[in-house]
Amino acid sequence: MTRALIVVDMTYDFLADDGALTCGLPGQQAVQPVLDLLREFAETGELIVFACDAHTVDDPEFALWPPHCVIGTKGAMLYGQLADFYNRHQSDRVRYLPKTKYDAFFDTPLADWLTADQATEVTVVGVCTSICCYATALGAYCRGFSITSDPAAMADLTKEAHDFAVNHMQNVLKAEMINRLS
Ligand code: ZN
Repeated sequence: MTRALIVVDMTYDFLADDGALTCGLPGQQAVQPVLDLLREFAETGELIVFACDAHTVDDPEFALWPPHCVIGTKGAMLYGQLADFYNRHQSDRVRYLPKTKYDAFFDTPLADWLTADQATEVTVVGVCTSICCYATALGAYCRGFSITSDPAAMADLTKEAHDFAVNHMQNVLKAEMINRLS
């Protein structure tokens, strides 16, 4: 069994106090658990993918959400220590993947990367739990990958949405939740 870590949308706009679509404090509290996972996967040389929204200014998604993660802006950059980690470790084992939809598999090479790496299990963390983490976990499930996550390493716009999505991932995607804080 080979694992890969997919870190979803841990960008300035989703995490900073003044981000355009921020999860605020719960999102910021997920940073350290994500960093712990990053260190673990980096030590073993397992594949790490930072899957991040990267929208053009006229993206159709902005009919639904306020403009966020526009290519070339601060909002689209990885947040805080996550940017430091990526800058230090960037390689063929630690990759950045721009995406335009919730599901990081949609119209991206992610599935090819995982297959080339012979990955069978993906660990999906980041934000928002019920939107891009869930959609990416669904994309993984539909392609036959087994899924793990950690509720402490995800966050959402509301606690209700987070809790629902954690349960939903377990119930319909057979995701195994590893809670390092318990
Ligand atoms: Zn978006």
